[in-house]
Amino acid sequence: MLVANKKKIEAWKKESRSKHNGDATRALLKLSTFYNQTRDKSAFTYATKALERAIRYDEKEMMAEAHLHLAVYFCRTRTDYVTSLNHCKKALHFQSAFKTKRLLAEVFKTIGVNFYYLGEIQNAQENYKNALDILLSNKVKNKEEIKDIADLYYNLAILNRSAETNSLRKEYLEAAQKYYQQIDFKTGVARCLDGIAVYYFYAGDQKKSLEQLLKALKIFEAQKDREGAYLVYNNIGTLKIQAGKFEEGIDYLKRSLRLRSEVGNPVPIAISHINISNALMDQQLFSEALPHLKAAEKILKKAKSKIELSSLMLALTRCYKHLGNFEAALVAQTNHLKLREDLHKYELEKAYHDTSTRFDVELMEKNAMIDRLKNFEIASYIHRLEVSNNELRQFAHAASHDLKEPLRTITSFVNLLEKHCEKKIDDTGREYLHYILAGTKRLDRLVKDLLNLSQINLSETPFTDVDLNVIYKEVVVNLAAIIGEKNAQVRSDKLPVVSADKTQMFQLFLNLIANGIKYNESATPSVHVSYSEDGAFTTLSFTDNGIGIPETYRHKIFEIFQRLHPREKYSGTGIGLTLCQRIVERHRGKIWVESNHGKGSVFHVSLPV
Ligand code: ADP
Repeated sequence: MLVANKKKIEAWKKESRSKHNGDATRALLKLSTFYNQTRDKSAFTYATKALERAIRYDEKEMMAEAHLHLAVYFCRTRTDYVTSLNHCKKALHFQSAFKTKRLLAEVFKTIGVNFYYLGEIQNAQENYKNALDILLSNKVKNKEEIKDIADLYYNLAILNRSAETNSLRKEYLEAAQKYYQQIDFKTGVARCLDGIAVYYFYAGDQKKSLEQLLKALKIFEAQKDREGAYLVYNNIGTLKIQAGKFEEGIDYLKRSLRLRSEVGNPVPIAISHINISNALMDQQLFSEALPHLKAAEKILKKAKSKIELSSLMLALTRCYKHLGNFEAALVAQTNHLKLREDLHKYELEKAYHDTSTRFDVELMEKNAMIDRLKNFEIASYIHRLEVSNNELRQFAHAASHDLKEPLRTITSFVNLLEKHCEKKIDDTGREYLHYILAGTKRLDRLVKDLLNLSQINLSETPFTDVDLNVIYKEVVVNLAAIIGEKNAQVRSDKLPVVSADKTQMFQLFLNLIANGIKYNESATPSVHVSYSEDGAFTTLSFTDNGIGIPETYRHKIFEIFQRLHPREKYSGTGIGLTLCQRIVERHRGKIWVESNHGKGSVFHVSLPV
């Protein structure tokens, strides 16, 4: 056990402020160990500080140790076993970092204690055994480890206190006794003897039971361990009364009471009073029992100890009834019922609290698991996406080369055919050739458009500052033929510089301006490019005086291959606006159309600033 005096504590506190990381954390851990032993709430503060430091400086073993200290604190001082278990789990997470096996064993032991208090005996037993295995596997054991082993055997004995496991209990106690003897831990030996006495008592061997108790008593007395001694006095008293030696028994019980009164812890004193009064009442000595019950009542009311008070009220009821004081008996009975009800309510609340805390812990774990699964799914989705993107890239490549190649061959041979066989071909033949050429031209356009479309999201060109005025000018040059042909007027306001993919901005302007001229029946088709800005978005507007778009089709036109007119009237592939939409989406923007059917359309493109 860590013995600390004021000086040591001061030294640790000083060290905990030291600059050497490991030293400071270690000092904080020593402080939390010390305060855990005295069940002082400061243990929590120091362990938490130690944990913070350990995390900050990535000191894994100390992280584990800090979690262990928090687990011990929540178990012993706060009796919050679920939180304690949670810290144990975290401590186990770092178990590979533990340099000493003792620490690991202590985690398992603490898990066991928590399960014991949560009433999960099977789990408690398993964890105690784990801790034992770890400690026993160490060939050379120091004194502290031997005491840990003995304590664990003793704890296992406590778990096995039913009549069926009586002999197993004895085995554990004997093992514990052996280890306590090795380190000459006398009160430990005496505790085991007291427990073995209970074994003999249940086995019906009162003589042997008494022998053990007397041995234990001798040790406790020699050690001046009054707590141990009064327990043994109490057991001897009960044993004697059972054996019919009432006077002697009562005498031991009263000795136990005297000792307890000296130790000064009130509740055990009251329990002692109750034990004596029960023994007296069994002998029909009700008026002698009454003062003991009243003394106990006074103590317990002051200590607000509901469980004990409730059993006391039952004893009082019995006593008053036999003394003929029915009124007092009724009051005691009513009190007993009320206390039971309160206790029941308390138990319910506690159970509710435990369950909800447990539920929270489980929920947290489930969420963490879902997150892990989600991450895994996202990772595999990204992987699949990469595979499919690669396939798409290969497809685009194949489309550009493998499709364009035969297309070029067809076109050039049709041209050769036209030239070389001009005289041999009649008008019908020439007409057919014309159709073939028109078809290949359309196919060529289609392949090019599809290729452009498939490459929008594959483009790895980083966004740069793109001057849209320059883009606009390039597009106008590119469209010079159709502008001249249709006598169109194309103009633009001064446009901004945006962060974008330059080639894609060119495609966007080209398609929108070309459409404004193409889908236009006015004598002087016009397209005007303007823009506005609202801090978050730059919105470009392409206004034309063309044929407009009926309301019902305004969404459809952005879908692939959707065209509103026959090819004979307006040529095209139905891919242009889809391409525009993909480009805008890649730039995290939006595209939409407003139109006054018959009088023109405005295509708006807003791009984030
Ligand atoms: P295409 O490549 O065939 O022109 P788009 O995807 O560019 O195809 O356009 C789809 C349809 O939207 C066109 O067939 C046309 O009917 C309509 N459209 C596009 N732009 C305009 C416009 N400025 N004015 C009127 N209709 C338009």
